[in-house]
Amino acid sequence: RPLVPRVSGRSITTASLVEFGQRHVTNGLSRLTEDVIVSGEGSWVTTLSGRRLLDFSCGIGVTNLGHCHPRVSKAAADQCHTLVHGQASIGYHEPYLRLIERLLPIMPHPSLDSFFFTNSGSEAVEAALKMVRTITRKQNIISMQGAFHGRTFGAMAVTKSKTIYAHGFSPLMPGVLTAPFPYWHHFNAAPGADESELVRASLYQLELLLLQQTAPTDTAAIIIEPVLGEGGYVPAPPAFLQGLRAICDKHGLLLIIDEVQCGFGRTGRMFYIEYSGVRPDIMVTAKGLANGFPLSAVVARKELTDQLKPGTMGGTYGGNAVSCAAAVAVADVFKEEKILDNVNARSAELFEALISVKADPAIGRHILDVRGQGLMVAIEFASPSHSTFDPAVKKSTPANMAARVSKRCLEKGLLLLTTSVYETVRFIPPLNVSPEDLAKGIEIVKEAVEEIV
Ligand code: PLP
Repeated sequence: RPLVPRVSGRSITTASLVEFGQRHVTNGLSRLTEDVIVSGEGSWVTTLSGRRLLDFSCGIGVTNLGHCHPRVSKAAADQCHTLVHGQASIGYHEPYLRLIERLLPIMPHPSLDSFFFTNSGSEAVEAALKMVRTITRKQNIISMQGAFHGRTFGAMAVTKSKTIYAHGFSPLMPGVLTAPFPYWHHFNAAPGADESELVRASLYQLELLLLQQTAPTDTAAIIIEPVLGEGGYVPAPPAFLQGLRAICDKHGLLLIIDEVQCGFGRTGRMFYIEYSGVRPDIMVTAKGLANGFPLSAVVARKELTDQLKPGTMGGTYGGNAVSCAAAVAVADVFKEEKILDNVNARSAELFEALISVKADPAIGRHILDVRGQGLMVAIEFASPSHSTFDPAVKKSTPANMAARVSKRCLEKGLLLLTTSVYETVRFIPPLNVSPEDLAKGIEIVKEAVEEIV
């Protein structure tokens, strides 16, 4: 077996490995309480005890081309024999530049032409927040209700999806205000609420915020995940993003688009912001960028990044040569294997199947909403704790549906995650998932729901 640490010379069983993890992995809340993952191939992972699990989690939206995509793994392995680490402030290295060359033509707007690479989504967000403050010389940042931007201090401050992420870590970065995101829950409305009305109300509240709480002269930027991730897999209507751009232009604010989770093909376009045609001032992306090698990117227009003092951004490992080489291969695979075509074809099948589950009289009444874009899709279940819905539905739907469905799916061989808020399970299959594997995953979820309700 490839993964067997020696624990005080004893021979290792799966149980003792799990116990070892529970004792020594900080904050490690593995769902696989009786097993350990040892390998992955395509849409599947294999555990130490020999179970094969269909992976619709992709390590939280990271292994978008499936586990160990041969071309990505080969590019990384080859790079390991050429140059493992380079540091852009000492000298540009080739994979760093080659990656920029690949990314330039796929940016959602041609003005995004200046790149630097970091290691994680949080680091990229942190860098973007520093950039807007130092460039504008203004302090306040507006973030969106339901947002998740990461776990470092700045990223925590602009995260608004669940109090637990910030609770106990104060004081966080000051100067963050929250604006509404047009999602029916946020307005005590019901699924199917008039989207244009939610957009109108959200933009109006944002204008009020700029009038009553943070003057544009004190406000550097608005940061938004164009599809709420942890906050429930909610795509922003394009009209809302266009409205944000207009408000930023009117008041002289910068617009930061966080495509860490929804970027890199996840929603059926390379970046979700493309659906709106909106120009970001700064865009951050990570996760699928290098298919599992740690890499994130902060992209802006050169005119902005020229204002940064050398040495104030990035870190030692950002833009690691192996990660960059892997990301170059990812970009090539996207083109050559027509990944976006697969996302859109599978997405149509996924939506059709989930909408028919929602229409099923036996189980559909427990499902409030099916939503998302591309292969970033969620089912939201009714919840006894929500105040907005038909009391009969609330009463007859078991509590903690999302966690229970996720657990039951795991028992049946499918890795399926929940989101941080509401009773929501999320589908994040690999973007090159086959029709057969997708259908298998859907069938498991359907059975799990049927067995629970
Ligand atoms: N931004 C978004 C939209 C995310 O979904 C995440 C992580 O899930 C982050 C930022 C933080 O990224 P990381 O966990 O790599 O620091």
